[in-house]
Amino acid sequence: MNIAESHDTRLSLHEQAVRQFHEAADIMDLNPDFRVILEHPKNEVIVNFPVRMDSGEYRSFRGYRIQHNNLLGPYKGGMRFSPHVDLDEVKALATWMTWKSALCDIPFGGGKGGIAFDPRDHSRTELERIVRRFTHALGANIGPDHDIPAPDLGSNAQSMVWMMDTFANSTASANRQSVKGVVTGKPIESGGSLGREKATGQGVLFAFQHWCDETNTDLAGLRVAIQGFGNVGSNVGRIFEVYGATVVAVADHTGAVINNDGLSAFDLADHVVDTGGVAGFAGATEASNDDFWAADVDVLVPAALENQITMDNVDSIQAKLIIEAANGPTTPAAELRFLENGGEVLPDILVNAGGVVVSYFEWLQNKSSQPWALDVVDNKLRETLLAASDRTVLAKGNYGCTRRQAAYVVALDKLERVYDQRGIFP
Ligand code: NAD
Repeated sequence: MNIAESHDTRLSLHEQAVRQFHEAADIMDLNPDFRVILEHPKNEVIVNFPVRMDSGEYRSFRGYRIQHNNLLGPYKGGMRFSPHVDLDEVKALATWMTWKSALCDIPFGGGKGGIAFDPRDHSRTELERIVRRFTHALGANIGPDHDIPAPDLGSNAQSMVWMMDTFANSTASANRQSVKGVVTGKPIESGGSLGREKATGQGVLFAFQHWCDETNTDLAGLRVAIQGFGNVGSNVGRIFEVYGATVVAVADHTGAVINNDGLSAFDLADHVVDTGGVAGFAGATEASNDDFWAADVDVLVPAALENQITMDNVDSIQAKLIIEAANGPTTPAAELRFLENGGEVLPDILVNAGGVVVSYFEWLQNKSSQPWALDVVDNKLRETLLAASDRTVLAKGNYGCTRRQAAYVVALDKLERVYDQRGIFP
């Protein structure tokens, strides 16, 4: 590990997020009074709760909900189910949600939460009890006009409908119908929105198309590698394929597969549903992780975990563009090196905002009891992400900074104007 990387990894994920914030705040000269507010989350909720296992034994679980900021609207962000979930991680993720909503100009704040456990280790009945007991433990800390969870790594539409049903059943019966919007990312039949399942991948496409227009690049024919083939990665792969890109390499927690002539993202998605991972896919050859990072591609889409592109692998990356579909996949030192090597990074808070934007549309549909057609959802998502991309490119030119810093500047500028207008209470 070299010196830059050791500096990088001394910082926890939340420390990295705070450092990125201060860099952008310096660039746009953010009012110091607002800087002290935005540096830390407003509320940090930790709950320990018991759950009965199928064996009859009880196990204690630890869950988190971090509420970073609610100046622009209710706290908003996913619930992550993973053994790695801890306070530091969810604080970073909640912080990024505040910037994401502000950048996209939607009336939400930033929040994030999760449970430190591996959902793959549990039966469906255990999962249901874990999710319901967690929701009950959070109690009034969440609510449709207060804090609105959504799916994230390890959770899905089924987890959300269990949360919604538990919350509704803990609400006075006269008010139960009005609390559907307590979570987004629900199944369609239970109040979800058309287009939400694929929304993050769809948004990645729109942000990518904007970059292609800006740089006169033809998307069709580009060669792509994707890390993570869950909700986000598999939708990115399939949507990119429809638009003519060639998916060459995919990695997940089970291994990596490469086909230099291109693989079928649709067949691979079916294989992952059937087997739980990309390993063993007949349409490609199994490869090492090192081979995956060094794959002969134009575009690399990390869509799994944070801190995946580091000083240890950045120099082996052949792609000239990193599209951050995951949150925080590139360490600050690796990003700097990649840019120095002539690459470009489309930053997470812009690129993967499709999920929260369509969550906002779902919340509006729940409030009005009026479902929207899929093309309405997709068109509004497109407009929102293209406008956020325009603002980012403009700020990049005005401040002569990186694309990530520019996206932060746009978000902080919006928050600063609202703080200016409202003042700080009391
Ligand atoms: P998911 O649980 O559906 O899929 C996660 C994927 O990551 C799986 O393919 C899994 O195999 C892979 N993975 C896990 N550990 C890995 C490892 N050690 N090495 C390689 N691959 C590994 O999760 P998701 O919803 O697709 O989320 C992926 C990323 O996108 C996360 O960073 C999440 O915060 C971010 N994100 C998700 C949404 C959303 O709407 N779901 C929105 C914005 C951002």
